[in-house]
Amino acid sequence: MDIDTLLGALGVALPAQGAHMLEVTSPIDGAPLAKVAMQTEADTREAVAAAQRAFEQWRMVPAPKRGELVRLFGQVLRANKEALGRLITLETGKILQEGLGEVQEMIDICDFAVGLSRQLYGLTIASERPGHRMMETWHPLGVCGVISAFNFPAAVWAWNAALAVVCGDSVVWKPSEKTPLTALACAALFERACVAFGAAPPGLLRVLIGGRDIAARLVEDGRVPLISATGSTRMGREVAPRVAARFGRALLELGGNNAAIVAPSADLALALRAILFAAVGTAGQRCTTLRRLFVQREVYGELVPRLIEAYGRVRVGDPLAPDTLVGPLIDEPACRSMQSALASAREQGGTVHGGERIAVPGREGGWYVRPALVEMPAHGGIVCDETFAPILYVMRYDTLAEAIAQQNAVPQGLSSSIFTLDMREAETFLSAAGSDCGIANVNIGPSGAEIGGAFGGEKETGGGRESGSDAWKNYMRPATNTVNFSTDLPLAQGVRWDL
Ligand code: NAD
Repeated sequence: MDIDTLLGALGVALPAQGAHMLEVTSPIDGAPLAKVAMQTEADTREAVAAAQRAFEQWRMVPAPKRGELVRLFGQVLRANKEALGRLITLETGKILQEGLGEVQEMIDICDFAVGLSRQLYGLTIASERPGHRMMETWHPLGVCGVISAFNFPAAVWAWNAALAVVCGDSVVWKPSEKTPLTALACAALFERACVAFGAAPPGLLRVLIGGRDIAARLVEDGRVPLISATGSTRMGREVAPRVAARFGRALLELGGNNAAIVAPSADLALALRAILFAAVGTAGQRCTTLRRLFVQREVYGELVPRLIEAYGRVRVGDPLAPDTLVGPLIDEPACRSMQSALASAREQGGTVHGGERIAVPGREGGWYVRPALVEMPAHGGIVCDETFAPILYVMRYDTLAEAIAQQNAVPQGLSSSIFTLDMREAETFLSAAGSDCGIANVNIGPSGAEIGGAFGGEKETGGGRESGSDAWKNYMRPATNTVNFSTDLPLAQGVRWDL
């Protein structure tokens, strides 16, 4: 299916011309896919105003009814899974299996949100005053600004939007400038669900195509109580203080530098498969990609040569081809930053296996690389940076305490794993003195997420939690209500104040 037919099937109508156009190219071969119109500052102000009007209506729609819209959206996604998954692959270069997986994740969060729409529980709290009742009510928050990264161009928005919509909020979305087509397709599919629903206010979802300048206007807009921003730590460092300066709420999902520990008792065959997918899957362009591997000295000689051999067999190529496991990097700067990190690793004493650019016949405009495994003499230096590419730094350790300390000795705190069959080691890793990450796994890799569990991480990863558990509370405001059903007026803390 060519791109025009695909966009047509998804309901995306592109303008032929405009004053500010953004050319979208595919990382598969560098060829142009389409041109999309970019929004201006005035458009941003107008979008927020429309979203605010929508919010004023939507907040009064009962939550289970709001859930019905999200249920319909889930149905539309099911019907269009193949087409949207393919578009994600064309725009990001991730393999089709993963493009489809991303749409499935959107469907899963819709299901989760529909269930939540009949919950959104508040507490009742014991009052110290006779004849009084105290309770907590969760109200819709307002316009949610969503800023998203290129590597999960649809799912991250859906995590936010599905919850925000059942919580009674409207959404203004600034997707990555590298993946605007996926965003326009998501908006068109959401619009289909709104039409089927029949009573969604216009402006419930607005998409702003543009760069950082447009995102910055959203960030500074006092009418937007929540900014949910996913991307690099650099971006979070710029966004967070601006939101704080106007007392807004920032929900940050930033960079990771994820690690795994392989202990002597590990099932090495299972560990090898898990490490491989976590480190090279999505061409190393997941926030949860495995980037640092600590292998206990006793099993290093058995595991690492097998891993290097497996790296050599990973099929890199066109992400639409059914047997490809690793597609291209997003663009040339990504390839350059990978090569520069590998040069630093060599300078720091690392032995690099793989990592070179690969020519894929017929796809010469794409930035394909062989995933790199780098044996490092010690932890530190370049190993502590997140390079958004398939580089796995491998290091030896002696004691579990040392491995945990090194794993935690980076600025980021997103995801982590241990491979062990020793219960004491596993529980130590999961304990308060173990991994300092938002995600800590046993006998599975650190990459990927399942809807239901809260997703996010500590330190420079930003501290946000999305998608599962009680992440919905980010999109609402709690009010504490005290009701007096007595004829007296006692004051709290026994304070006497009589005229
Ligand atoms: P990026 O930071 O370059 O861009 C992300 C988004 O932020 C884009 O929409 C961009 O336009 C916007 N942006 C950039 N600078 C901004 C600024 N100063 N003010 C306002 N908006 C700004 O990130 P990327 O290259 O698209 O994505 C890769 C990064 O995202 C990696 O660091 C990865 O770990 C991270 N990421 C994190 C998660 C997570 O959940 N923790 C998920 C996906 C990606």
